[in-house]
Amino acid sequence: MKLTRLPNEFKKALPVINQLTQAGYEAYFVGGCVRDAILGLPIHDVDIATSAFPAEIKEVFEKTIDVGIEHGTVLVLSGDESYEITTFRTESTYQDYRRPDHVDFVRSLEEDLKRRDFTINALALAHDGSVIDLFDGLNDLKNRCLRAVGQAQDRFQEDALRMMRGLRFISQLDFQLEAKTKEAICNHAELLTKISVERICIEFEKLLVGKNRSQALALFIETNCFKYCPQLTRYEKQLSNFAQVANHQLHDVTVAWAAILTYFNMPLQQVRPFLKAWKTSNQLIIEVQLLLQMLIIRKQRIFNAIDLYQLNEDIIPKLSELCAFYQLSEPTNLLLQRYQALPIHQLKDLAINGHDLMTYFNRRGGSWLKQLLSLCESAVLMNEIKNEYQELLSYANSKMDCEKID
Ligand code: ATP
Ligand code: MG
Repeated sequence: MKLTRLPNEFKKALPVINQLTQAGYEAYFVGGCVRDAILGLPIHDVDIATSAFPAEIKEVFEKTIDVGIEHGTVLVLSGDESYEITTFRTESTYQDYRRPDHVDFVRSLEEDLKRRDFTINALALAHDGSVIDLFDGLNDLKNRCLRAVGQAQDRFQEDALRMMRGLRFISQLDFQLEAKTKEAICNHAELLTKISVERICIEFEKLLVGKNRSQALALFIETNCFKYCPQLTRYEKQLSNFAQVANHQLHDVTVAWAAILTYFNMPLQQVRPFLKAWKTSNQLIIEVQLLLQMLIIRKQRIFNAIDLYQLNEDIIPKLSELCAFYQLSEPTNLLLQRYQALPIHQLKDLAINGHDLMTYFNRRGGSWLKQLLSLCESAVLMNEIKNEYQELLSYANSKMDCEKID
């Protein structure tokens, strides 16, 4: 097969390939970028593999950065782009189910393609657009079939992460899992315990935001992989309910976590320990908690100004996506407009501050001050009073008189 029209990302990188060939080496586009180009999908990173050894790559190019020289990867700067160029390599025996004991640089493309995980990821593309397909990857692409390169059993034993990568490709690409590859995942799911949670999490998140999340989650359960991921064993039933939800694609990882946790019926206080076990960032945890709180509200009523005040501009598109998942219409632009129109967005936007109130009431700070500021915030947000110093002061005065503030 020959690609007659190379995508622009490849055209731009051709000088790099040509420089290597002119220096007497072989060089090809490899891996995910070739797969995506043939499928007509956007290409995110252009990876190049070459027969040149790392020191030789560095001799060919003026500007290089060592990013992973022990694995044979050199970053080459070309124009305003940079490309990862990796020497053809083989991987020796694996003793820990995740990393080869060592890698050997070789001059053969075939050896390099053999070590790759799936046939659709083991394609190489030459400068003239011809595709090198040693494992029938093109046929698998055509039939939308995900198949391990060589003996699936061996491949997952070498590197157990490949099972999670496989499930996420099923979701991302909406492919079918080939029978032997599936059987091998069923037989080796337990090896996921050898893989770091962080790496599993990256693949799981990609699975959640893929096109065919439902199919991938069904396989995640059927192959028992879910049992070797943090915290999921006890949620088998809920996970399976979530897998049965029609494929309304989610595009944001935070929204995807919020959606799944809603299916788990997880109380808010359990969200943090759950996501901590998945080693997600603190920022993600805070956002998921906020999204879940907002969803609970929105299931009961339309958001009011005090609800919107909890938000920020970054989370609004996420909230909109989560609401849409639950057939609740909250278009981003309208939410944003309502949010921007709020009279204040944070406590420090209030025309009166704690210091003003302490001076006026001649009292030291304490819980009374917090309560009073919070009443002022709400009154301004609900348009009961204007955000003006005098109005706030008389409002505070009236509240000190009539409410139980201590
Ligand atoms: P994405 O589109 O998400 O980047 P990708 O297939 O390009 O998907 P990368 O992690 O960028 O994934 O890896 C690039 C290529 O390296 C893969 O296409 C595959 O050929 C090979 N590869 C990556 N991880 C593994 C692995 N664990 N085992 C074997 N080959 C792998
Ligand atoms: Mg890639």
